[in-house]
Amino acid sequence: MCGIVGYTGGRNAAPILLAGLGRLEYRGYDSSGIALIQNDNLIVRKKQGKVEDLRLSLEREPTASLIGLGHTRWATHGVPSEQNAHPHVDNANRIALIHNGIIENHAAIKEFLLSEGYQFYTSTDTEVLAQLVGHHFHANLADAVRAAVNQVEGSYSIAVIAPEDPLTIVAARNGIPLIIGIGEGEYFIASDTAAFLEHTNQIITLEDHEIAVITPAGVNVSAAGQQHIRKEISTVASNLEQIEKNGFEHFMLKEIYDQPRALEAAMRGRIDPGGINYHEIEVVLSYLENASRIYLTACGTSWHAALIGEYLLEQIAGVAVEVEYASEFRYRQPLIDKKTVVVAISQSGETADTLAAMKMAKEQGAMVIGIANTVGSSVSLASDETIYINAGPEIGVASTKSFTSQVMVLILLAKALGERTGRLDARAAANMAQAIEALPEMANASLGTAGQVQEIAAQFERSRDFLYLGRGLNFPVALEGALKMKEISYIHAEGYPAAEMKHGPIALIDENMPVVCIAPRDDTYGKILSNIQEVKARRGRIIALTSEGDKGINKLADHVIQLPETIPALYPILAAIPLQLLAYHIAVGLDLDVDQPRNLAKCVTVE
Ligand code: GLU
Repeated sequence: MCGIVGYTGGRNAAPILLAGLGRLEYRGYDSSGIALIQNDNLIVRKKQGKVEDLRLSLEREPTASLIGLGHTRWATHGVPSEQNAHPHVDNANRIALIHNGIIENHAAIKEFLLSEGYQFYTSTDTEVLAQLVGHHFHANLADAVRAAVNQVEGSYSIAVIAPEDPLTIVAARNGIPLIIGIGEGEYFIASDTAAFLEHTNQIITLEDHEIAVITPAGVNVSAAGQQHIRKEISTVASNLEQIEKNGFEHFMLKEIYDQPRALEAAMRGRIDPGGINYHEIEVVLSYLENASRIYLTACGTSWHAALIGEYLLEQIAGVAVEVEYASEFRYRQPLIDKKTVVVAISQSGETADTLAAMKMAKEQGAMVIGIANTVGSSVSLASDETIYINAGPEIGVASTKSFTSQVMVLILLAKALGERTGRLDARAAANMAQAIEALPEMANASLGTAGQVQEIAAQFERSRDFLYLGRGLNFPVALEGALKMKEISYIHAEGYPAAEMKHGPIALIDENMPVVCIAPRDDTYGKILSNIQEVKARRGRIIALTSEGDKGINKLADHVIQLPETIPALYPILAAIPLQLLAYHIAVGLDLDVDQPRNLAKCVTVE
């Protein structure tokens, strides 16, 4: 996934593009570049590495242009290098193009263009598209883009400029977001509104197969077949403060600390001690209640939330649920009929595999429910009904608050469904509601372990492996803790159901192996205590998460992190917080780039 940005208006474009790219860097950061039009010439500047490197190089040779495109890349085709960075130009240097996505039939198109005498200088799929637009460019840039995208298979959001039409940006999308920002006598395009939010909050969202022609005088959107389309203008809900660090050293830390607020936002209007909640999704509940099958599908961290959802829906609502990686689900032949409900969970709302799984399920007649963070995201557009987690923008590449907010929404869903199915009686529902309402405060207390976690982190910075163990609802938390460690600290880590340890991973345990055990005082407490004994007997170094006032583990564990007492269903949220902090502090201790870990991108819009 990449970040794209564009500007046309009355101001100098380069600083606007660079600031926009800075805000999009979470989407990709192996190289970046901009294209400008200066004195009727195309100027392209690229750099391998961070946007900051590009900024420094532009500072050395300032530019003056009222139009431009910018791109920050997460390579799919061709290594990260200056040459492969976008923007790409055609052989005649008449157009420059930026692209987010994958051109699946690039090889066939390249073969054709080679036979026509074109030469290629990069190993990207994007250069093929740039040459194709150049090939079709006779008099009208929009016509050239239309002709090119009509030949293309795959996913894209693109933007093109040409000195022969020096005030115009032509943009198109298929499957990957592209938003147009409307200023006064100036317009922006970007993958995400964060790129231009400091200039305007008025937007038009481009939809699949639409082409936009954008000049300082206005925007004209048309369908693939050229018919004009009237587009609604909407207002972005987030503000600049939400997308800035606000004094925190990293976005990830800001987002970890934002969790009490985010949890509150996820439950707002949805919890009622009287037992009636989810007024807005009564329809979802009746679908779930009558479903022949329920699948939860997701990728990455959201998949861990889905696993917790499976346990919750089974335990609290008494309905059977299957959890599937979206990337596997879409290629299997899952049993789907008209009474199947597929719940797709995605923070970004743009994950390619999740979207493809939703599409496949829908085609086979399933009802598709999205759990998403962003209104208007592709997941929400592809869903029959959407439940928003309302966590606000998450910029750090490693998901934190979106995970706990997704779990919160699943808890509420399980509770509402449990009341409907009768598995949860009125008293139990009221108790649960009370515990849920106290959760933001408890999450605050969980954040209170930060100092202790930081000290623990300092002792384990040099560890080469970590093992995370949990049982029941806390097994997915173990998986999530291990994922956080891998993502930002580059330390190998595995999550296991605690009892499974004996079937393999126990062979790894010696005095160098830190083992994080999630051991709340619930039904499985006695069992996990035995598992901890087994680790202890092999001299593993134990970091235990337990419940307030618990003394049982003190004798066994090297470090005990006590978390507030709550009902078992809510403990995963409280436990996730110190695990996020552990990974964070280890990464900071190792001087790693926490917000932009190597090889990762915030949302994976390619398959
Ligand atoms: N396929 C393009 C490249 O590798 C864009 C990648 C993306 O959007 O992630 O340069």
